Amino acid sequence: MARLVMKFGGTSVGSVDRMKNVAAKVKREVEAGNQVAVVVSAMSGETNRLVDLCKQVDAVHDQREYDTVVAAGEQVTTGLVSMALQSAGVKARSWQGWQVPIRTNDMHGRARIAEIDGAAMLRDMAAGVVPVVAGFQGVGPGDRIATLGRGGSDTSAVALAAALQADRCDIYTDVDGVYTADPRIVKKARKLDKITYEEMLELASLGAKVLQTRSVEMAMNHRVRTQVLSSFADVAGTLVVDEEEIVEKQIVSGVTYSADEAKVTLIGVADRPGIAAGIFGPLSDAGINVDMIVQNISEDGKKTDMTFTMGRSDLDRAVGILEKQNLDWAKLVPDRNVVKVSVVGVGMRSHAGVAHIMFKALAEKNINIQAITTSEIKVSVLISADYTELAVRALHTAFGLDAE
Ligand code: ADP
Ligand code: ASP
Ligand code: MG
Repeated sequence: MARLVMKFGGTSVGSVDRMKNVAAKVKREVEAGNQVAVVVSAMSGETNRLVDLCKQVDAVHDQREYDTVVAAGEQVTTGLVSMALQSAGVKARSWQGWQVPIRTNDMHGRARIAEIDGAAMLRDMAAGVVPVVAGFQGVGPGDRIATLGRGGSDTSAVALAAALQADRCDIYTDVDGVYTADPRIVKKARKLDKITYEEMLELASLGAKVLQTRSVEMAMNHRVRTQVLSSFADVAGTLVVDEEEIVEKQIVSGVTYSADEAKVTLIGVADRPGIAAGIFGPLSDAGINVDMIVQNISEDGKKTDMTFTMGRSDLDRAVGILEKQNLDWAKLVPDRNVVKVSVVGVGMRSHAGVAHIMFKALAEKNINIQAITTSEIKVSVLISADYTELAVRALHTAFGLDAE
């Protein structure tokens, strides 16, 4: 007998028929003698609808009430999937975050899980009842409902798998695994049998939304065996594993992009000690994460240009903050029309020349690079958003990732 957490994303529970399909899959695992806990997302489109309602009421709403609203999507699915299981002859019971309980911190809208007490759920499971748990939500200080950030049901599932000491966490979604690039954009993308925790973490944090970044962090820290697989096709998925489990290491395992980027260029900045601290200090105080930074050498030793990037939703705030500082620059140019394209692979550690291949491939397509960052296992470039798909495909080909 194995203990499994089975998580179903929005598309997988997007209609009543699909919920029946989920029930059949769960039933199969139960009949195979496994102990199963199910985690569900809101039906596809539902969270967007709820977020939009909040925005319509007030663009700057109370985050605690936002959580109350958006957590509702998952509640509906837990009840419906429980019913579907019951009518398929499987004992099942819905669980909201507060009932488990899944305790979080007070960062409403992007809360972190602090603690899960799985005891009550385990008692039910031992009695042969399948718990159907609401993903994405938990309960914060003061017993307020809190949500874990978009895509957070993945994190709920992995955290639950860790708390229940499950043998595996299966993330059922609308693709049959993790691909070398988003298969919606790159038709020649290949499915990976295995990917390392580290690579998956980089891919997720650099834009591949197939798993929420925190879920991968959690899987890595607690060594949860995590699998991404299709809720529609019955084929093997992708296992996220330790590096030792990968025999043939690719230089680059995947290409990804993030459209959630914005750029600020400060022109004619006084080139003297303390200016960078003066610019980035107030941004950091406001909780704005600056990612890429490029500073030019000043020709005359007096003035320079500086470019940096941040999350797109932080741009307006960043501009407001910078304009309030009494700093010495001539002009501020904001730009939302940028994307960050990245290549990721543990093989980079032992191979030189990855950046060169990347730059050459982009140059051949006449794509201008606006900023660059690297780490041990990734290279990222900022380019105009107009060339996103062209760049991702060109890099996929340049690194030999295209399927036959
Ligand atoms: P769910 O609703 O099941 O959580 P998501 O939409 O959050 O599903 O994530 C699955 C989507 O992730 C896929 O439909 C795919 O378009 C996208 N995706 C992005 N990058 C990748 C990748 N490298 N491999 C697989 N899917 C990817
Ligand atoms: N329903 C939430 C969202 O759409 C959480 C999730 O699906 O993972 O972001
Ligand atoms: Mg998701």
